[in-house]
Amino acid sequence: MFEPVVDIAPLVAALNPAQRAAVTAPLEHRLVLAGAGSGKTRVLTHRIAYLIAAEGVSPLSILAVTFTNKAAAEMRARIEQLIDVPIRAMWVGTFHGIAHRMLRMHFREAGLIQNFQILDADDQQRLVKRIIKGLDLADEQWPAKTVTGWINAQKEQARRPEQISDQGDYNQNQLVRIYSAYQAACERQGVVDFAELLLRAYELCRDNRDIQAHYQRRFRHLLIDEFQDTNTLQYRWLRVLAGASGVLFAVGDDDQSVYSWRGARVEHMLALSRDFVGCEVVRLEQNYRSTGTILKAANGLIAKNSGRLGKNLWTDGSDGEPIQLYAAYNEYDEAEFVVSRIKAQVGSGARYDENAVLYRMGAQSRVLEEMLIRARLPYRIYGGLRFFERQEIKDALAYLRLLHNRDDDSGFERVVNTPARGIGATTVERLRGFARAQGISLWQAAQIADEALGRSASKVKAFCALIETMAARAQDQLLSKITEDVIVHSGLREHYGKEKSEQAEARLENLDELISATRAFELSALEAPIEGAPELDPLTHFLTHAALESGEQQAAPGEDCVQLMTLHAAKGLEFRFVFLVGMENGIFPHARAVDEGNLEEERRLCYVGITRARQQLYMSYAELRRLHGIEQIGMPSQFLRELPPETLQELRPRVNVSRPAFAAAGSAEVGAARAWRNASDAPERTHLPGNMRAQEAAGFGFALGARVRHERFGEGTVLQFEGDGERTRIQIKFAQTGTKWLMLSMANLVAV
Ligand code: ATP
Ligand code: MG
Repeated sequence: MFEPVVDIAPLVAALNPAQRAAVTAPLEHRLVLAGAGSGKTRVLTHRIAYLIAAEGVSPLSILAVTFTNKAAAEMRARIEQLIDVPIRAMWVGTFHGIAHRMLRMHFREAGLIQNFQILDADDQQRLVKRIIKGLDLADEQWPAKTVTGWINAQKEQARRPEQISDQGDYNQNQLVRIYSAYQAACERQGVVDFAELLLRAYELCRDNRDIQAHYQRRFRHLLIDEFQDTNTLQYRWLRVLAGASGVLFAVGDDDQSVYSWRGARVEHMLALSRDFVGCEVVRLEQNYRSTGTILKAANGLIAKNSGRLGKNLWTDGSDGEPIQLYAAYNEYDEAEFVVSRIKAQVGSGARYDENAVLYRMGAQSRVLEEMLIRARLPYRIYGGLRFFERQEIKDALAYLRLLHNRDDDSGFERVVNTPARGIGATTVERLRGFARAQGISLWQAAQIADEALGRSASKVKAFCALIETMAARAQDQLLSKITEDVIVHSGLREHYGKEKSEQAEARLENLDELISATRAFELSALEAPIEGAPELDPLTHFLTHAALESGEQQAAPGEDCVQLMTLHAAKGLEFRFVFLVGMENGIFPHARAVDEGNLEEERRLCYVGITRARQQLYMSYAELRRLHGIEQIGMPSQFLRELPPETLQELRPRVNVSRPAFAAAGSAEVGAARAWRNASDAPERTHLPGNMRAQEAAGFGFALGARVRHERFGEGTVLQFEGDGERTRIQIKFAQTGTKWLMLSMANLVAV
């Protein structure tokens, strides 16, 4: 037991009265419902410190749920700092992390093998695909991606195949059949997908009386950050864990609910007062993060949503600078803009990691990366690139998994012919058929399927022998040594070393990075053994870590670099300078989300993005963008129009020209525009000689002031030109659809 520290003054000194009231509230259920940057996470952290220091609550009886593993580590550090009590034994983590921990501890009761491995999203989909094939269903009619989504949705509703009633619907019955077969395959292989982690842990606590009683007795206080993104299963699990006496402390913001596609339901916020009797709602309205302007923009935008629980943020800080909006020619110009701004900021004393670039889709990061590399700026991608999801890393991990559990079919399939060993698709298909017929794993099949495999049998045997040799060598070795050995003896290093390309080089570097990762892991595992967890061999530990961390790539501690991440990954974080790039309709709001009627969720995501910024927010859109290999003309995001206009400042120097006579003056400003970009400095309206522009533009056959027609936008008048050669763009005032910038080479204009 810890002696309560009686003097709580230092603990609550840095809190406003509303926050203080929440932190020191009686030990009853509370929901802190408050907007971005109002100190929810801070309150939650202080609450934990308060419980331990002032209420004498043991860290062991606290369960804290955060949104990422990184947030968990930060929260732990922060609490230790606040109260100077080691809290290693406290359970802090994500829902998945906590579920995983429980399943490791109670693998038997949960019906799992001790070495169960985690199937990541990609492997899950492959397995589902194989199952579909095995059931003789057509790929086209049963796309693996959709089916996987359906299965996960069932799991998120805590529905097992046998609980889905037969309603005589053919499609549904087939889906249930796939689900059953998939589940059976997972059991056979000893693998667990992400949704399964939660469902198993939930079922374990719900169905096993002893375990339920144990955790209900143990966790007296359950504290949840980002509560708005709790899905149905997580919520039910929480209720079971809390039992009749656990005290809930949840913090969240309905306006930041951005995971409905993963089953998150804001309604759980409303359900709290029903399910947790006496739950009082606490509101915080003062924002401590952002400038007045940024807040005004965020408030203005989110006001367009309906069905909000309603709140308004204010700050007593200064208004700060307007949001700077940059209209780029294309994605490279946009990235160049970001780079130049970051350089300027760092030049005037900012750190790289005070700059964050946020985007809607992972694929947008590639060009940004390219430009950052070119400019030699250090950067780190969170989430997007997913170290543990790269091809070469997954190959190496698959070998490790096989060393560990020969029945891991996903691992087997991945590397049986990587690097190439002359084991073709037909052989693998035969092996699969054999394994299916016998109800055994591919590995087991490989041992006895000589006849079915014919001439390839010896090659498959050779592969198995290779794995056995590596496994024998791995005995009593350090994890990093095993990993290195596997990378070399599997032939992976040679395989990737043969290619002479930059990508191949990067892959080799990544493989080396994997060895470093295992080494770092060995060290940290020595330092911080998991309390209560059974002795796990380091390999299992590491594989689990890899599976849970994928999608959460973290910067090395202390490394100062520009932060790149998707908007989803930015939730809960804050940065001095934020760039929201790709503000184009179709990208953000995302076309699919709009089609599916999720515009409001996209708007909440934009609200999340805006409210990450402390001092200065930049937004940008490109009029022409190549993404996923397709070049498209972009329209500025509707969200830009929804911001209060006074919060925005357009960065591209506008030219006040609408007549041919002023062409030279107009293009002079374009020169200035390019000049300031190169100088990475604020735009200045210097007049440079620039009548070249008018001539070049004229080469395309349009003069300023000319009347033109566009197939989509109708008739309009040419206002001005910018850029050069292929990059020339043209501004047209369309009578029906307003003023737009178009790439001249793509615009398909006809003179009228
Ligand atoms: P989000 O909704 O984005 O998760 P949040 O409500 O969790 O935001 P915090 O991250 O806890 O907000 O706080 C936002 C910022 O304001 C942090 O930098 C925090 O340290 C600071 N802050 C919060 N409360 C106070 C306070 N009373 N005095 C000074 N700074 C504060
Ligand atoms: Mg927070």
